[in-house]
Amino acid sequence: MTLPALALFGGTFDPVHQAHLSGARAVADALGCPVRLLPNAVPPHRAQPLATGEQRLAMLQLACQGQPDLIPDDWELRQQGPSWSLNTLRHFRTEIGPYRPLVLVIGADSFATLHKWHRWQDYPALCHLAVLPRPGAGSPTLEVAGAFHENTPQGLLAAPAGRRLMLSEPWLDLSATGVRQDLARQGTSTALPAPVGAYIRTHRLYNVPPGSPLTDSG
Ligand code: ATP
Repeated sequence: MTLPALALFGGTFDPVHQAHLSGARAVADALGCPVRLLPNAVPPHRAQPLATGEQRLAMLQLACQGQPDLIPDDWELRQQGPSWSLNTLRHFRTEIGPYRPLVLVIGADSFATLHKWHRWQDYPALCHLAVLPRPGAGSPTLEVAGAFHENTPQGLLAAPAGRRLMLSEPWLDLSATGVRQDLARQGTSTALPAPVGAYIRTHRLYNVPPGSPLTDSG
């Protein structure tokens, strides 16, 4: 018997780009479950975002329009202090109960550094992993790889936690850093959904040069 899964995709989303969206889509389709996209408030592992939490959430809402199973979620933005994924996992595990599959979606670059995350050893009891491929990503430590047994979508749906799905698609060499550089240089980026590009230019985020077009073609 399988119970409906819930997938969580956390990130800075500064801004959300096509690789985030295609990755979330791939997980929703593979597992037949909703994916909650959670912008973090104070990312513990990196520099602070340029856009506010409210702006990053607004861009996610625009990007997910028309895809009811991709759900922007402000839970981390409403918490105090650093956004530890462990707190988020515990919150959603309590919400859905002990039996439903809970899936943490991460890029392969994040998987390769999971051993540095706060109390990552607690994760296999709380959630599965769905790992998105990412060009240039390194490999996980043996300890991390061994803690989550690689499995199929059906295998993940048959247990609440502790398994790992390695997706082979999408394979997109994109980053928010590259998007911000393109925006500062030319006011547009092909890696952005059109409504997100328009929002950025309207709000003059990411140092878009004055006079950049207020609509884009993509
Ligand atoms: P930045 O360039 O600002 O570091 P980013 O593009 O890596 O940003 P984040 O918001 O930091 O985006 O990432 C959120 C999650 O999305 C992370 O788990 C990351 O590994 C994953 N991710 C981001 N870009 C890709 C990509 N091109 N392919 C696969 N996963 C990705």
